[in-house]
Amino acid sequence: MSTANENLTPRRWNADLPASIFDQGGPGRRGLTFPRWDGAAVDAVLPPEVCRREPADFPALSEPEVMRHFTKLSTLNHHIERGMYPLGSCTMKYNPRVNEQVVALPGLADLHPEQGPEDIQGLLGALKLLENSLCELTGFHACSLIPAAGAHGEYLGMLVIRAFHLARADRDRVEILIPDSAHGTNPASVVIAGMRPRTIKSRPDGRIDLEALREAAGEKTAGIMITNPNTLGLFENDIREVAEIIHNAGGKLYMDGANMNAIMGKTRPGDMGFDVVHLNLHKTMSTPHGGGGPGAGPICVAKELAPFLPGPWIVSADDGGYSLQKIPGPGSNSIHAYFGNVGVCLRALAYILRCGGNGLTRVSECAVLNARYLQHHLGDILPVPHADGCMHEFVASGSPWKAEFGVRTLDIAKRLLDYGVHAPTIYFPLIVDEAFMVEPTETESRESLDRFVAVMRAIHHEARTDPDLVREAPVTTPVGRMDEAAAARQPDLRWLGPCNC
Ligand SMILES: *Cc1c(COP(=O)(O)O)cnc(C)c1O
Repeated sequence: MSTANENLTPRRWNADLPASIFDQGGPGRRGLTFPRWDGAAVDAVLPPEVCRREPADFPALSEPEVMRHFTKLSTLNHHIERGMYPLGSCTMKYNPRVNEQVVALPGLADLHPEQGPEDIQGLLGALKLLENSLCELTGFHACSLIPAAGAHGEYLGMLVIRAFHLARADRDRVEILIPDSAHGTNPASVVIAGMRPRTIKSRPDGRIDLEALREAAGEKTAGIMITNPNTLGLFENDIREVAEIIHNAGGKLYMDGANMNAIMGKTRPGDMGFDVVHLNLHKTMSTPHGGGGPGAGPICVAKELAPFLPGPWIVSADDGGYSLQKIPGPGSNSIHAYFGNVGVCLRALAYILRCGGNGLTRVSECAVLNARYLQHHLGDILPVPHADGCMHEFVASGSPWKAEFGVRTLDIAKRLLDYGVHAPTIYFPLIVDEAFMVEPTETESRESLDRFVAVMRAIHHEARTDPDLVREAPVTTPVGRMDEAAAARQPDLRWLGPCNC
């Protein structure tokens, strides 16, 4: 680990925020010269009242000034091209640039969503191939690419399960059982879909309590929603028993498959006994995301549920072409216009084709290996309460730091920024005190993991010898520690120039 100790000094990122682009440049500077317009006078083409009489007060900058301005802006925040981003459950991994080239192909990027199926055969073929690939990967029969996020997929999955029960006049099945280790979006999606979440406590080892499940399952049970691997980074290994209990009670099994990056190519939800799964393409299949998007959360379903997927469906015709089949009932427009976030879907297809089946399996293996490597090397300073074999992420507890040094998990997270590492997810899941949830992903190198270990050890040393330094962090970032509660309650989103920050 000796090489990792280089480069361990907290570094000042950017002493100054850049000036507003309106305060830069000067008259007459430009990066591009347009040919002179010698057509009709503008007034002859446009109604005079919409024509500008004076030139607009736009900033005038040369190309190098513009490049420097935006490059500087891009370095104010942390991002994956800047350094490690182990934000647990969010899968912030490197997104291959070839995906961007694929979505920018004119034959895809220049399509209009109102074009008829005969015009967009190539796109429909690509989407069908993605649907089939995702069904193969998950062990299911049919797929809808429409949902625009993981939570949106959960919502559609819940609607499908509800529609299935209603079609059998099974109106009282409105309860969805959810283990307390589930992702926070799960109960929210259940409520929005008009059903009721019911929490099932986990066992002390962090997995589903089958006894509690047996007691809860009954005539009201519409289904169960399980995040697997769960948010403690543990594989739920009793799924066969869970499936038996829930299916015997008449319910369906939903898997939150946002963490599919831990098990791709190793096992399939369809083979385990699930009936529906959603995938987070923007995470597992690499689309740059964060700050709220963009995403795609397709669902794959078992044969019995396929008739309840929203239309229009993409259907392969005998002549090798594709058509769109309208289906009765609410169409996909009830949850999203057109075909969903097509750009994210195409990136996912490029990723799948480039990796191939073996490559995807290797992705999961390396994601798990990297997480276990970190858990092992940090074990003496960061205990993991549920420690038996994490998958792609692990949830450590900062409670010993709090007890010994008065340094909280929040402080550790902030201090990491001073070392050029994004904070892990903190205080989630709620069942771990001072939770510190680390997901390194498969795209970090051994050196990068070793540096993270060295940085955590350096912060541990600081917490012991100079706890105030850690409590006041970050001290090298363009803005220091913010009042996050006030920022959420009284957001001030106006740009008033650099000195107002
Ligand atoms: C990220 C995540 C979600 C939500 O996905 P969004 O795309 O953010 O809506 C749901 N479940 C798990 C386990 C996740 O990690």
